[in-house]
Amino acid sequence: MNGDRRTLQSLQHMFGASGAQRPSVMNNNRRRSEYVRFHPDDDQHYYPDALFEHPNNFVPNKDWAGRTIWWGLSPIVPQGKPGAGHVDHDYEHLMMRKMAGNLYGRAGGNAAFPETPEEQFVGALVDKQIRKLEAMDLGDLVHRDYTLKIVMEEIKDNHGNDMIWREFRVSGGISIAALADKVITPLMGWVRNYHAHAFTVHKDGAVYGPTVCFNDTTSQVQLMNRIQESKAIDMMHLQSIGYGAVPEKSNRGVWTLAHLLQEEGETMLWVYDYGDNYTHVITVEEIAPVSESTGKVAVLDGAGACPREDGSGNHEWAEEVRKLASPIASERETVLGELRRALNYKGRTIGASFDPEDFDLAEARARVHAALGSPDSVGSGAKTFVSLLHEGAVDDFHNGSGAAGRLRRGQTLERTWDDEEGGPRVGGRYMEEITSSKRDKKDGACCYMCGTPHNLSGCTGCRKAFYCGTECQKAHWNAGHRAQCKKWRK
Ligand SMILES: [Zn+2]
Ligand SMILES: [Zn+2]
Repeated sequence: MNGDRRTLQSLQHMFGASGAQRPSVMNNNRRRSEYVRFHPDDDQHYYPDALFEHPNNFVPNKDWAGRTIWWGLSPIVPQGKPGAGHVDHDYEHLMMRKMAGNLYGRAGGNAAFPETPEEQFVGALVDKQIRKLEAMDLGDLVHRDYTLKIVMEEIKDNHGNDMIWREFRVSGGISIAALADKVITPLMGWVRNYHAHAFTVHKDGAVYGPTVCFNDTTSQVQLMNRIQESKAIDMMHLQSIGYGAVPEKSNRGVWTLAHLLQEEGETMLWVYDYGDNYTHVITVEEIAPVSESTGKVAVLDGAGACPREDGSGNHEWAEEVRKLASPIASERETVLGELRRALNYKGRTIGASFDPEDFDLAEARARVHAALGSPDSVGSGAKTFVSLLHEGAVDDFHNGSGAAGRLRRGQTLERTWDDEEGGPRVGGRYMEEITSSKRDKKDGACCYMCGTPHNLSGCTGCRKAFYCGTECQKAHWNAGHRAQCKKWRK
């Protein structure tokens, strides 16, 4: 009894008489961070160790190959354990962190803790990186042509060689936004404006992502609104690609390939579709002297068909490739069926003879050419499928309500029926995408014909298409701009 009373008294002493104060014993066990602010109810157990350091002194982690990804925050599996030397993607911890995120501004609009510790820390790294980019002396790199090779590692042919790769040439001055949207995405065979992507440069681990999601002043609440707005559901997986990124283009700057890579042999990672994480490694094979550079985009070579959209990453595709060669017909047929339903294979004949090693150079060139000759994708209006679940939704479709409320000036909501799912009826499905009739910003643009980022001026007719000179303008006029221009002038 006495003992109980003493315990109670000492507890009251520690917590205050009301018991409302937080137990100081617990606080003593908590680690103190040099920079980030923790919510008192947050369990620190699942944080990357890096968050206890100051971002200015932070040294990013490198894997066995000397590569740094996702800002170098993720721990590296220690020697003697399976996967030693590789980044430790602990998805259980990531899930715990996602739940802890509810304590912050994310869901509850918690004004005292608007950003998670990860976002606070990465926000400082982003800011530091932008200052580094601003101070960079690029010399003549923006006027030199880069020959790049992009490879989907982990997917091998029968000889153990990389099955899927492309070789191409672009100017060092091309904006990374255009590089992703108008070159890499169509070059690989992915669908434009469907999933999010991110670059991470191996030498420093810095991450660069689409503008719609991030800005130097974006608060967590704004970020979440934009994620809602973009409707790109893969944004939920932002934390698995480093919690945040330098915006590809914003009022702080338009970053070019030359800002990211400066030397032959350097590499970066390009991830397409957060969460599913189709990973591509880009290597600089050659940087030509200015005298041999044209600035033009050129697709040089390649191998392997593009994996299907909405699959589950490189390893899954490697498994599906194995099944396509299976003697069991039902195994092959399952994969072929998935392919026929995939957005990037829609409308194509996928027969039993489909060969995942096939690559059609002319087709890849045509896809890149079409992308270059079109406006930038509207990041806030990523393609998304909508199913009509009730009668009212059919009316919404016809009167264009719902997503139409998100439109800004000059934007149009495009809706296309998914024919296989039937017409406008309950149970039917359509695709939505926002397109813009506004002129794209010249800073970060490329010639609609050849892809050079240099010496651009707008088409005098539509004022929307950009050309590097009359030669390209004439060529593109005959290649289809005649009709495009007329449509845009209306
Ligand atoms: Zn041109
Ligand atoms: Zn025009």
